[in-house]
Amino acid sequence: MKKEITIIGGGLAGCEAALYLAEAGWQVQLFEMRPETKTPAHQSPYLAELVCSNSLKSTRLDTASGLLKAEMNALGGHLLKIAEACSVPAGHALAVNRELFAQKVEETVAGHAKISIIRKEITEIPSGIAILATGPLTSDAMMHTLSSALGGEHLYFFDAIAPIVDASTIDYTKVYKKDRYDKGDADYLNCALNKEEYYHFVDALMAGEKHEAHEFENEFFAGVKFSFYENCIPIEELARRGKDTLRHGVMKPMGLETPEGKKPFAVLQLRVENAGCTAYNLVGCQTMLRYGVQKDIFRLLPGLENAEFLRYGSVHRNAFLNSPAVLNPDFSFAQLPQLYLAGQLAGVEGYVECIASGLLVAKCISEGLGLLPEETILGQLWRHLCYPKEGKFQPMNANFGILPRLENEPRDKKEKKQRYSERSLEAMKVSLSGKE
Ligand SMILES: Cc1cc2nc3c(=O)[nH]c(=O)nc-3n(C[C@H](O)[C@H](O)[C@H](O)COP(=O)(O)OP(=O)(O)OC[C@H]3O[C@@H](n4cnc5c(N)ncnc54)[C@H](O)[C@@H]3O)c2cc1C
Repeated sequence: MKKEITIIGGGLAGCEAALYLAEAGWQVQLFEMRPETKTPAHQSPYLAELVCSNSLKSTRLDTASGLLKAEMNALGGHLLKIAEACSVPAGHALAVNRELFAQKVEETVAGHAKISIIRKEITEIPSGIAILATGPLTSDAMMHTLSSALGGEHLYFFDAIAPIVDASTIDYTKVYKKDRYDKGDADYLNCALNKEEYYHFVDALMAGEKHEAHEFENEFFAGVKFSFYENCIPIEELARRGKDTLRHGVMKPMGLETPEGKKPFAVLQLRVENAGCTAYNLVGCQTMLRYGVQKDIFRLLPGLENAEFLRYGSVHRNAFLNSPAVLNPDFSFAQLPQLYLAGQLAGVEGYVECIASGLLVAKCISEGLGLLPEETILGQLWRHLCYPKEGKFQPMNANFGILPRLENEPRDKKEKKQRYSERSLEAMKVSLSGKE
């Protein structure tokens, strides 16, 4: 087999994959549409531009992002090293000089003898082995092509994410298990609110400070053109429609009586997020509130006073595919087996996760990397993308809640996270040594 590959999209995932494959001896053609064709968020002509924050999050091993970085370093990769070389002081976080980072990635990619960069928008699926890494702002023409090839029902354009909390930090003396009208296996936990608690929560939602929407998203959030995306409306916007809107909608108490048989004034449901029941999703709480504000407001819910947030909510423009429905277990498309999918378009969320996805796909192609252990963040993100699951697929970031529960879990949170990390890195070591 000729080691030749096309990569579409010179962002975080595309550049990581290009460098890895080039080092492994592949001849890479990397197509990037900017600066000729722009996206609504990128500002510079450089590859691997960080479109918003300059932070690649924590490096500490007692954080999920720190663990993810350690796992990636065990696999080998290039962009994290470049990020470290361009870092700026930010405590335990790996923050970078954004311009310098993009310039250095571009220099490294352009300077590699085995990579040629072609500045052109790709609108059709290429022949031969290729990686699609066109990101959350994939060009319209490519989205159209994907829609024809895969079916429009597998393409999502907006991403409404509800917060996820650590199951071990919920107060189980206050929440109770019950499915609405007992239809189901009592998979939901319920936070019951009395009248006073409910209106206090609604007031806090309305007063909470929001993230500023990008210019190109305002139309959506104004609900003018995209009013059919009703399921994406942030909870604080619903609260603004009327003080009782939530309790007649997502927080309606009907069929959710307490174990004592009382009908609460309103109920917020928590849906289990994973098989190990280590994390719960706050149903209907997609939000544009700032992260710190979210923590304060959702902790007003009875039972969540001390909840630890594994992921915060968000609503933003974001194209992604229904990966578990369209991908093989090695990130190739079931219908287009020579085409692989990487980055945010595949349904990972966050800069480092996108780089990680590029690395995983490159390793699958060059070495036939086998599925990584379930104790690792990379292994779980992989399973999230490539294996079918119940319910609507949503993008996922690195968080401890996606890992299987520890045996004899320590009560101390810091120790618990440290143990998760140690277990993961050990499992990764064993898995990789078996593959040598
Ligand atoms: C507005 C916005 C803000 C975000 N802010 C953050 C943040 O602060 N922190 C965080 O962790 N994550 C953030 N994300 C999420 C995500 O981590 C980043 O978008 C990340 O850059 C995605 O990496 P990627 O490699 O998948 O895509 P990108 O880095 O976007 O790279 C895709 C590349 O493909 C190119 N392209 C698109 N279509 C074509 C085509 N048809 N032909 C050729 N080239 C094409 C694009 O120009 C782009 O350069 C944000 C996302 C968005 C949309």
